[in-house]
Amino acid sequence: MFYNKQMALTKLAVGSDIKYLCSKCNLELSHTIIAMIGSEPARIRCNTCRTERNYRRKKVTDLILRPGAPRPKIMRPDMFQAKLQENLMKTPKTYRIDQSFEVNDVIQHPSFGKGVVIKAMFPDRVEVLFQDQSRVLMCKLDGTSAE
Ligand SMILES: [Zn+2]
Repeated sequence: MFYNKQMALTKLAVGSDIKYLCSKCNLELSHTIIAMIGSEPARIRCNTCRTERNYRRKKVTDLILRPGAPRPKIMRPDMFQAKLQENLMKTPKTYRIDQSFEVNDVIQHPSFGKGVVIKAMFPDRVEVLFQDQSRVLMCKLDGTSAE
């Protein structure tokens, strides 16, 4: 019978050495595993400076966010900004309950600020998208502007 020694060597156990970034030495160095949880190292010790630390599996962000490396830009689609951009040329209408609005009208609301009408709800309501959230407002709708 053959024993695969290579397999036995790659299996982590207490006493095994693994490469890990030592924050004290500021280098990736051999660490000895001193405690395991299941098949994962839990506590390790730097072979160089003898500092003990908890083992954490490397996260993708650790690799990306190394000092000097450019941070990834996370662009989130901003529905409000997009809507406002679409209707940039429109003069905002001041919100009043007796004012009539239609879809894509830009509204200036005294307490919620700028908004864009995204839905007409007959007979007397519109849904307006504001920076923080959309709100249903009372207003006058004339039947001709239905979309
Ligand atoms: Zn160290």
